[in-house]
Amino acid sequence: MSTLQHVCEDCGHVERAHQQELFTRCRCCANEAPPKNLSPEPVITPTFDARTFEPEPLLRPGERYNPGNMSGRQTCACQACQDAYAEATAT
Ligand SMILES: [Zn+2]
Ligand SMILES: [Zn+2]
Ligand SMILES: [Zn+2]
Repeated sequence: MSTLQHVCEDCGHVERAHQQELFTRCRCCANEAPPKNLSPEPVITPTFDARTFEPEPLLRPGERYNPGNMSGRQTCACQACQDAYAEATAT
């Protein structure tokens, strides 16, 4: 699922990288979880369907991703994420 993520302003990686969910060789990510300086505005980090290569739908703020997975986390549901979601899904 595509998700909204806040980006660490120190290293530019998304919050999930700091939670060791995405592999990076970044020292900032290895040291700080959660990061201290998150961007107030979230960015959309798209994922793509393995078969069709279409971007997957954006997860609603506050919903879990990887629901079948033990490490499934909830997406951020702050006002900025709600706004970004509304904007991204507006037709
Ligand atoms: Zn960082
Ligand atoms: Zn980093
Ligand atoms: Zn947020």
